[in-house]
Amino acid sequence: MLKTGHINLKDGLIVIFKGHNFLFPIRSFLKLCEILIGKVGEKETDDIFKEVGTFQLLQAAQRYTVLFDLEKMEKRKFIKFGTKIFEMLGMGKYEFLNWDENNKIITVISRNVPTAIEFKMIYGKTLKPIDSFVCGVIEATFYLYFNTPMKCVETKCIACGDPYCQFEVFPVEEKRETKT
Ligand SMILES: [Zn+2]
Repeated sequence: MLKTGHINLKDGLIVIFKGHNFLFPIRSFLKLCEILIGKVGEKETDDIFKEVGTFQLLQAAQRYTVLFDLEKMEKRKFIKFGTKIFEMLGMGKYEFLNWDENNKIITVISRNVPTAIEFKMIYGKTLKPIDSFVCGVIEATFYLYFNTPMKCVETKCIACGDPYCQFEVFPVEEKRETKT
């Protein structure tokens, strides 16, 4: 990626796929979460980070569409490609426990989500999963994949003492049906 110019490190700038980046320590990220929770509450903070995650994925996909001709890319390859980039950005390694293409139900897990690892180190175990940012990224990924509104819920989290973070993805409609 460095060789092909997709990652450019020069004059104190990190430009990846034509977008500027900076390294933001997870501790600062968690501090930001803590401040927001204090000011607007847990639910709002979760929603904010989920929205940021969704934004990150959708705007990246827009840039990549131009750079890599994403529209022609086979859909599973698009997921593999996206997962690699997420790994490259330091967001951990992701695998798929369940992939039900027909019902659009996917289970994604990661044994090393950095925010959860760091959270547990700093604050100790928590009762509620914390990775709403990752949820937003995964939700938007499968929205693009299935071309239908999807929902992602984190059901296990390293920050809660689970061995991995687990994200369940399903169509928004599905949720409504199971509730009624
Ligand atoms: Zn987690």
